[in-house]
Amino acid sequence: METADLTTIAERYHRVQARVAQAARRSGRTPEAVRLVVVVKAQPIERIRAVVAAGARDLGENYPEQALPKMQALQDGPPVRWHMIGHLQRRKTRIVVQHFHMLHSLDSVPLAQRLERQLAQAGRVLPTLLEFNVGGEAQKHGWPAHDERAWPALADAIAPVLDLPHLQVQGLMTVPPWRADPEEVRPFFRRLRRLRDFLARRFPRSTWEHLSMGMSHDFEVAIEEGATFVRIGSAILGPRPG
Ligand SMILES: *Cc1c(COP(=O)(O)O)cnc(C)c1O
Repeated sequence: METADLTTIAERYHRVQARVAQAARRSGRTPEAVRLVVVVKAQPIERIRAVVAAGARDLGENYPEQALPKMQALQDGPPVRWHMIGHLQRRKTRIVVQHFHMLHSLDSVPLAQRLERQLAQAGRVLPTLLEFNVGGEAQKHGWPAHDERAWPALADAIAPVLDLPHLQVQGLMTVPPWRADPEEVRPFFRRLRRLRDFLARRFPRSTWEHLSMGMSHDFEVAIEEGATFVRIGSAILGPRPG
């Protein structure tokens, strides 16, 4: 990797941070109300080092086993928080329990129960978001939430997760359908926010503070609709090497 490319990463990181801050102000919030998670999946370690050197402290990964060598490589740098944002397979849960700060992509009750057992053994509480599929796409993960008439049944379906003492549910996450025009993604972000409000009324004793939504090409719209976490990869680190 050329030095020039790594400088560009720092510049892009600061530019994206500035756009996040502006969008937060447009939505009547302070810049601190929106956290930027830099998504490092499939990226070379030099680029990840460059973004950490530029100040990034929250990193996102889709594949737990691919995060491990990256964690090791970053060990002598400043401490970073790892966010698990991809579909979590049963056999990978222990890596998340041991090494990740937060899980954005919890998508089933059996997975929650398995995590609960391992977290109890490890004696830790894991901040967790529930993933919903708000676009009705067959290939997407998350509890189906496209049809609002099904939300009462959906609330019943996720209720068991809220009783698990070592999973601290803090909100919702989604990966909406891709649209060339980010304005066309807005209704999906809005749907996740409305689902959050619905669940908050239904389960007032749980915390529903966070909405993890918005990626490289649509994060400003997501922030305008209430995102508290945006997950941004290629706009900062460049295209993932194929
Ligand atoms: C890859 C990925 C991102 C980041 O995507 P970019 O378009 O590179 O910003 C965010 N969230 C999830 C769940 C992802 O898989």
